[in-house]
Amino acid sequence: MHERGASVRELIAENEALRRQLSSLIDQAESNHAIMMRHQAFDLELVAASSFQELVNTIFSKLPAVCNLDIVTVSLVDSGADIYTVMDRLGVDFESLPNLLFHEDPEALGYDLAGGQAPRPRLGLYDPALYPMAFPQAPAGLASVALVPLLRNKRLLGSLNLGSRDPSRFTPILGTDFVEHMGSIIAICLENVISNEMLKYIGLTDALTGVYNRRYMDRRLVEEIARAQRQAYRVSCMYIDVDYFKQVNDTYGHQAGDDVLREVAGRIKAELRMSDALGRFGGEEFVVLLIDADLDSASMVAQRIRAGVADQPFVVGEGQMLSVSVSIGVATLGDAGRDQAIEGVAQQLVAQADQALYEAKEGGRNRVVAK
Ligand code: GH3
Ligand code: MG
Ligand code: MG
Repeated sequence: MHERGASVRELIAENEALRRQLSSLIDQAESNHAIMMRHQAFDLELVAASSFQELVNTIFSKLPAVCNLDIVTVSLVDSGADIYTVMDRLGVDFESLPNLLFHEDPEALGYDLAGGQAPRPRLGLYDPALYPMAFPQAPAGLASVALVPLLRNKRLLGSLNLGSRDPSRFTPILGTDFVEHMGSIIAICLENVISNEMLKYIGLTDALTGVYNRRYMDRRLVEEIARAQRQAYRVSCMYIDVDYFKQVNDTYGHQAGDDVLREVAGRIKAELRMSDALGRFGGEEFVVLLIDADLDSASMVAQRIRAGVADQPFVVGEGQMLSVSVSIGVATLGDAGRDQAIEGVAQQLVAQADQALYEAKEGGRNRVVAK
């Protein structure tokens, strides 16, 4: 009797132990499932990002939580600063992205690139001397890190840099499947959004001067006029034409003419606000759209541009100096245009600035006429 009681107790204890084990396995499975779902949701969000800004925002705002990390940085190889320049021009807010790092030289990423082999992830204890570029603002207590190369067709686009305060989180003996999966998805998405943004940029800008092209300006003009009509502020327009530009070409050559056009664009830009838009309308003609500026303030900006061009000589070719001037016509959107179709209003505004420009030319050039 006694013995039977003992074996029943043993059985019950064993049974309870098994139940506990099972329950912990179920917990584990549920937690793994939750992690997997989190990762899948994150992958989908990466793939869905339609712009560079959206993609990097998703990486920085979600990846630390999804993977339980203390810091995530992304380094991009950007020789010639092309990516940075284009993203900047398209309005990416780099100040909000302190963990997005640009490197001219792929060597700076910290991989062994000798021998032409595709670089491998590097996992291990954090050593600031070993990873100086990956974590310029390392959080206190950063203990272990993974540097994951972002590769497309063996080309190193950049590096995904993951950091944890847990020293055992990333160790050299850990499998790299998981981080490599993450790296390859991010690399594909990055390459996609970067080439899309580059195409967008090329379609909107003038190749010679880097300012917007006419197609963009026509569209922007309509958008801004619609907004100005809704929100009741002034939109003004400047038509700028380089004086006697044909002589520049004839005297110094077409190449020097191109240099002058680039420099004129730069000098115009220097006088504008971020919200204004500058476009090349063709040849040596530029149009500026000024947001929230009435005729008086637009004329003041035009005078600054005129002086900015005329007061400093231009240097072209092998250091030849020449004087350049521009004539500028300024017009502003009157209240009369409020009830008309926007496209017509936009055309009228530009035509009015062009008419003012004509008067500036007639009046002797190197001057501003506002009407
Ligand atoms: P005005 O003071 O009346 O404006 O005289 P202008 O000589 O500037 O005017 P015109 O319209 O006769 O000449 C414009 C010149 O601009 C003619 C053309 O060869 C030149 N041009 C147009 N596009 C380009 C370009 O992309 N590069 C260069 N270098 N020249 C260009
Ligand atoms: Mg002209
Ligand atoms: Mg001209």
